[in-house]
Amino acid sequence: MRKDDCIFCKLANGDIPTNTIYEDSDFRVFLDAAPATKGHCLIVPKEHFDNLEELSDDVASKVFPLAKKMMKLLKEKLGWDGFNVVQNNGEIAGQTVFHFHTHLIPRYIDDGQNLNMKPSSPKEGELEEVLSQIVS
Ligand code: AMP
Ligand code: ZN
Repeated sequence: MRKDDCIFCKLANGDIPTNTIYEDSDFRVFLDAAPATKGHCLIVPKEHFDNLEELSDDVASKVFPLAKKMMKLLKEKLGWDGFNVVQNNGEIAGQTVFHFHTHLIPRYIDDGQNLNMKPSSPKEGELEEVLSQIVS
């Protein structure tokens, strides 16, 4: 289903032009308008889902095979040195467009980007406590 007031529904379905690098019956992959690096693009399903939680299993099962295919294409054409696959869910996690999408971010030596997590040092017993909360 499409959502009338959703910009990514319009972009994915071709109602608004995009810099498309790939399209099939389920997805459009196009260049991000504010790229973090050269070749930064977005895998966007044509159907509307707010986020990963809402995504159908069918569409979900096709995202990583497509990411892999696009990664290979971008390697061939742009020759990246590394690659980030990023997918944000919820405002606190950096989601700004509430139509599920996956960022493909080619990385280059000295590209000046830093998408790394900040590591922490858990106190003794902390990981076990979290584990017991999740697995019980
Ligand atoms: P997120 O923060 O994960 O929701 O990512 C949204 C991404 O969509 C950002 O990287 C934006 O630069 C990108 N974006 C927003 N509007 C457009 C647009 N019209 N065309 C291409 N990319 C867009
Ligand atoms: Zn949408």
